[in-house]
Amino acid sequence: MIRFENVAKKYEHGSYAVKPLNMEIQASELFVIIGPSGSGKTTTLKMINRLVPMTEGKILIENQNILEYDINELRWNIGYVLQDIALFPHMTIEENIAIVPELKNWEKARIQHRITELLDMVGLDPDEYRNRKPHQLSGGEQQRVGVIRALAGDPKIILMDEPFSALDPISRTKLQDDILKLYSNIQKTIVFVTHDMNEALKLATRICVMKDGEVQQIGTPEEILNQPANDFVKTFVGTPKRVSNPIVELDPIIQLTDTSKDLNPEFALSKSCDLKTIVDRLAYTDELPVENNGEIIGTINRASFYKLMSKRLNESEEV
Ligand code: ADP
Ligand code: MG
Repeated sequence: MIRFENVAKKYEHGSYAVKPLNMEIQASELFVIIGPSGSGKTTTLKMINRLVPMTEGKILIENQNILEYDINELRWNIGYVLQDIALFPHMTIEENIAIVPELKNWEKARIQHRITELLDMVGLDPDEYRNRKPHQLSGGEQQRVGVIRALAGDPKIILMDEPFSALDPISRTKLQDDILKLYSNIQKTIVFVTHDMNEALKLATRICVMKDGEVQQIGTPEEILNQPANDFVKTFVGTPKRVSNPIVELDPIIQLTDTSKDLNPEFALSKSCDLKTIVDRLAYTDELPVENNGEIIGTINRASFYKLMSKRLNESEEV
């Protein structure tokens, strides 16, 4: 679908922004390019729609050199989403979305239908939103419009350059979910740039890791996680976040009471029990039986468990 053959970009008086690069992005992939700032992600993306002219090699889209395409045709058929949406402030949402369809001379009715369909797709009520101006939308809503504007002319390829990095975590998650939903419905070829590994792992069919203008590894999220090609990729992926779930010794707070008879032995805790199990079960009841070798030996209650935890948190940072 998009083939890079020894594609490089060298700025005058500079070193390579992108070193000779060979790769092929398949049709209907959600291909994520990731790397630290300055690693050449944006340059790679912009060479695809000729916003940045390459200095070496060639890019083929559907086996045709991009230099042979009419530049306008090429741009209209490649949707582009940027970090700061850049909706036109004086135009309504509808007018913003209609830009490319109008350039492509679609009929009015078809454009209207398309706008309704796209707003619906990302959960923005068309009647309510189509005549608003961008400043009447939240940042997250504007960015959603930015995404559907890129889809409006029904492009085969969509390029996204850190489209969600300026958003708060909740809007960001919401838009990532939107993208996955859109992607499963439309199956476009999406090239998505990010510097956030969690975002990459969540979205990508394949991930391309770049550093200093050079590809370090291309692979599925599983391959990148489990078989990093070098130390850089390994460090960049990092260790997935883990919530610690320590074992808690309940001995100090076990009460030898009679009430254990009335408690459901199915929910008995062992004397040495993991924190999550204890917390989960205490969410539903004040008192729990404790067993040892299959025998109920007493109970613990929520208040004494909290006191025990509080004391241990005071003694050290770790529970
Ligand atoms: P990324 O998107 O990964 O942050 P870029 O593709 O924007 O990286 O930049 C890659 C390298 O190219 C950087 O070292 C950057 O300074 C350099 N670069 C980008 N644009 C220009 C330019 N117009 N002139 C000179 N160097 C540039
Ligand atoms: Mg960039």
